[in-house]
Amino acid sequence: MAEKTVRVLCPNGIHISPAGVMAKLLKKVSARAEILRGGDRADAGDVDAVLALALREGEDVTVRALGDEADTALSLVEAVLREGTKMLATWGRKAAAAPAAGSSAPEHAAPMLSSRVRIGQIRQVADDFDKLLSFYEKGSPMEEAGRFGEAVKVFAARMEAAARASARSGDTRQQFILEGYRMMAEAQGFHAEVGRAIADGASAPEAVLAAKERLAEAMLLQERAGDQREVGRSLARILLGEKEIMEATDGTPLILVGDEISPELMARFPGDRLSGIAQSGGSPSGHAAILARMRGIPCLLGYTDAAALPDGATAIIDGEKGTVVVHPSEAELRAARQRIEEEQSEARRLLEETGPAVTKDGTGIALRANVGAPEEAEAAMRGGAEGVGLFRSEFLFLGRDELPSEDEQAAAYGRAAKACGGAPCVIRTLDAGGDKEIPALHLPKEANPFLGFRAIRISLSRPELLSAQLRAVLRAAKEGKAMLLLPMVVSVSEVDAVREALARERCALFGEGGDAPEVPVGVMIETPAAVMQAEALAKCADFFSIGTNDLAQYTLAADRTNASLSYLDAMFHPAVLRMIRMAADAASGAGIPVEVCGEMAADPLAVPLLLGLGVTALSMAAPMLPRIRAVVRGTSLSGARLLAEDALRQTGPAAVRALAAQQKT
Ligand code: PEP
Ligand code: MG
Repeated sequence: MAEKTVRVLCPNGIHISPAGVMAKLLKKVSARAEILRGGDRADAGDVDAVLALALREGEDVTVRALGDEADTALSLVEAVLREGTKMLATWGRKAAAAPAAGSSAPEHAAPMLSSRVRIGQIRQVADDFDKLLSFYEKGSPMEEAGRFGEAVKVFAARMEAAARASARSGDTRQQFILEGYRMMAEAQGFHAEVGRAIADGASAPEAVLAAKERLAEAMLLQERAGDQREVGRSLARILLGEKEIMEATDGTPLILVGDEISPELMARFPGDRLSGIAQSGGSPSGHAAILARMRGIPCLLGYTDAAALPDGATAIIDGEKGTVVVHPSEAELRAARQRIEEEQSEARRLLEETGPAVTKDGTGIALRANVGAPEEAEAAMRGGAEGVGLFRSEFLFLGRDELPSEDEQAAAYGRAAKACGGAPCVIRTLDAGGDKEIPALHLPKEANPFLGFRAIRISLSRPELLSAQLRAVLRAAKEGKAMLLLPMVVSVSEVDAVREALARERCALFGEGGDAPEVPVGVMIETPAAVMQAEALAKCADFFSIGTNDLAQYTLAADRTNASLSYLDAMFHPAVLRMIRMAADAASGAGIPVEVCGEMAADPLAVPLLLGLGVTALSMAAPMLPRIRAVVRGTSLSGARLLAEDALRQTGPAAVRALAAQQKT
């Protein structure tokens, strides 16, 4: 037997990823380990039991191991408690760290080809469990127990396959979460509780939902309870007849259907495993739509028939017509396949048309990519981007319990900056809040999140968070032309405060013997306040980047995620165009560049207007680059200026749209 007192140093305590890694590694060791704290104890190999202890950073626990390899088990548990999943880097990568069978080195994402039509299998995300349970035909307790066992096997196989795919694409964070989910479904305590409920007369899905709900409620840290519920819901879905849909994830891509599809959910279906999304809510500048555009897949918003789409059915989703055809005929499928092929070969053709985007009268417009991960920057550069115009750093923070460390951020930003070669790589400080909820920040709920504590406001109130980001960006600047961008700025003092912190961190890095090249600081123009102060802001900024998604929302007081407000056509509203003009004029007066990184930059109809208003660079979802390059090449700047003047005189968006559609620039 071996025993030791260990201090938990894993940032944010022991959550699902480290607990999963610990359980997985312990399986390969011939010893049992337990963690004791006060009167509580947990089998270190039981994810649920370890999570229920809710071990927090800084507390001391006793680790006890018994068996032939007790010493190995003890040092393994100690390493996880101290370092979390980072211990894998030093543990020899022999056990869990080694890619699972069948996996290979990280794949490089190919440039994505967008098409407005896709074929896939419907997966309803909305959970109407009451309704589903009312259709469920309960068997004998023995049968129910058998069904439960089968559902766990299906779920475990699915999680394993998804974890392998994550490992292949280099996303170890996602891999550990998925492995942790599998272990939560296989946890002994959970099985015992389900078994008891079934023996007492519950059906398998009822027992699963109730047991996971109870486990979730018992969690000391409520922010971790979501994982328990998610596993319970997934198992219940399998039991209630969604087995085929889940199995489809290994081959047939999915069409996710629900009220709102979260960015986290989309991230669980990487690459070509997702054909599209259809949601009853949402709006074009909401994050689900943005992610869909980045992946080149159709996204239907305000799709009122979403709830009626049958789970598991094959369907054709058409982003242009806004339709979903379920159970299509062979002829319809043939036609859809042909359209996909045509659109993709057109996308390929445009992709091959490389070279700079220059207007007909010879002005170069830099076209850059909006990305959320370094691999996307690499793919975008292969797809002809002239750098990254917006690295949404918050995507590194989504869907996880702990904040990414400075090292992790420096590695991600550095890789993106390196991929950009000598071209700019604009890294935006954390833009949390609004519709981007970051659980690890533990922010209180707000009545009006878009008007609340978000973006730069959060960064300035959390100096340690800001310092880590600034240091990571400064370190990335050694790899390429990293630039910093500040979201939701409303006054000069915010920029001054960040510049001060940046200078401090740069000195500190020098003091630590590091090299820290200078990093230009850009200001996002996304509030009317920033526009009204644009001249003052231009004096303290190295560049402007106009976030038209938020600028339109705040100018028209129209929630960007509210589908019922899409009729306001905010981005074509003359008031928004005037805002853009004012910002562009202030930038040009101060001699700094002005870029648009909101969704307007990816709209072929809006691009000539933007150029005419004085915008000098555009940043967009990478799949849109070839089309927008073709638009820029077909536009003359002098014509675009006349168009913009005309548009500014209009009284409503319909007239602006009509002008933009008619005018040959
Ligand atoms: C914008 O508001 O236009 C923008 C680019 O930022 P985000 O969409 O991430 O809020
Ligand atoms: Mg914004």
